[in-house]
Amino acid sequence: MINFFRRTKAYVVFSSEYLIGVSTYGDHHTFDILKYKRIRDKLIVKKLLKVKNILYPKPCDFSDIKKVHSIPYINKIKDPVYVNQALKIEINTLWDNSVLEYFKAVCGGTVHAALKAIELQKPVFNLGGGFHHAQPDKAEGFCLLNDIAIAIKVIKEKTNINNILIIDLDYHQGNGNALIFKEDPSVFTFSIHADMWLKEKAVSNLDILIESSISDNKYLESIEKNLNIVLEQINPGLIFYVAGSDPYIEDELADMQVSRAAMLKRNMFILGQARKIETPIVILPGGGYGHKSWEIYYDFISTSLKGKYNV
Ligand SMILES: [Zn+2]
Repeated sequence: MINFFRRTKAYVVFSSEYLIGVSTYGDHHTFDILKYKRIRDKLIVKKLLKVKNILYPKPCDFSDIKKVHSIPYINKIKDPVYVNQALKIEINTLWDNSVLEYFKAVCGGTVHAALKAIELQKPVFNLGGGFHHAQPDKAEGFCLLNDIAIAIKVIKEKTNINNILIIDLDYHQGNGNALIFKEDPSVFTFSIHADMWLKEKAVSNLDILIESSISDNKYLESIEKNLNIVLEQINPGLIFYVAGSDPYIEDELADMQVSRAAMLKRNMFILGQARKIETPIVILPGGGYGHKSWEIYYDFISTSLKGKYNV
């Protein structure tokens, strides 16, 4: 009998703790906080995801968080009032630290996804995360903690992997990671974006700024061409892919015009490249706003679970 797990094409990390913040901040800045639950539920209804395919993480604790974030900043984010102000959350929940708990849960998910991707040698999707704007002593763009940077620090301590690639295709530049790994030659930051995110310019190892009006074909060509350039320079032992859905034409915040079909092509291309070079990959949703945004990440996970690479 073939072992079920050997036939598994991909894994999904999710925990009920990802829903902690729902009652507190609801639909924040058009972000559909239930999008990941919607994705999980539809994958189960469609029989693409069995419960045993779901990996359950533990929340990150402060000993891991402090590998990236400063002690003064950690002390500040223990105060819910500071957190609400930093993330521009209007509901004033003085006594309630559920937003911090949400970020700790999802950060734990990204750490777990990275460890499992290495162990299982399969793509692992986290149903949350990709908080690429968070910096050591600063929250930015609805990112309180930088899950990618925390996971990278843990991986470097727990494994012998020391050559990591971040592919960031969110609409916004991955400025937090660019800043955190600026002096670290073992982490290559590659970002293709239409928006530099605020005025301060962080510099990735490779930044590609594209026009918002770029066509599907030109967008996909740019990704392929530039990823080839990156992979000529480095041979990663692990890839983090920030698969932001905000370049999608239906996104309610961003202004790019990429079709749903091209978003899936983009995502499956990245997965296919990781597979080709036999490198474990952790996939994070990053940004994506509005009521249709969840479909983009759903398409990606469902197609991956079916093992279809040519879409
Ligand atoms: Zn974004």
